[in-house]
Amino acid sequence: MNKLNHIFFDLDRTLWDFETNSKAALVQIFDELKLAEHIPTFDVFYEEYRIVNADFWDKYSKGIISKADLRSGRFAQTLEKFSIINEKLSHKLGERYIQVSPYQTNLFPGTVETLSELKNNDHQLHIITNGFKEVQFIKLENSGILNYFDDILCSEEVGVNKPDPLVFKKALERTKAKNIESIMIGDDFNADVLGAEKCGIRGVLFDPHNHHVERSGVERIQSLKEIPAKIIGL
Ligand SMILES: [Mg+2]
Repeated sequence: MNKLNHIFFDLDRTLWDFETNSKAALVQIFDELKLAEHIPTFDVFYEEYRIVNADFWDKYSKGIISKADLRSGRFAQTLEKFSIINEKLSHKLGERYIQVSPYQTNLFPGTVETLSELKNNDHQLHIITNGFKEVQFIKLENSGILNYFDDILCSEEVGVNKPDPLVFKKALERTKAKNIESIMIGDDFNADVLGAEKCGIRGVLFDPHNHHVERSGVERIQSLKEIPAKIIGL
């Protein structure tokens, strides 16, 4: 068996707890922009935002809308659900969200211990993310894990998103890794697991909330702490 010299991680929803961080940022901004004057509670706002945001991300990942449309449109549409048509306010929300959310620092349990253990055992660690470069570095740095990684590839540098094989090929090329000595760990079955496997990289699904119990034939972990023993065999 080949030694797994290179371990590639997704960032959002795999190491960096996107939902918790996003919610914390929006709580702060909801208060700051006094949205309670127009919207009954934060919770109803957040529920609508989650639905709208998922739809915008889906369109962005398919190349239907631009990054700028994603950033401003998701808030304009959320506000519209509460009959608020206010371009200045939705623009401000979008702007503040981009400024505030990357500075949140919640990681999934076991992130730091796991990265340390892997690093101490001479594995090279890397990130492959579909997120935007200017925010992904802030997240990594502020949550204290930037220095664990040798390479951080943001798909916008390639021009296409995971699961496009070009992203994984670029990652292998930049790290001088061979696919057979590499592994990719991420929460998105299509983008992370199937994308990696199309390039001959072993894919492991991170499924902390047990959303993929029914999926057979997939290597699946619920906790990052399972990586050293169960996946790498340390
Ligand atoms: Mg992810």
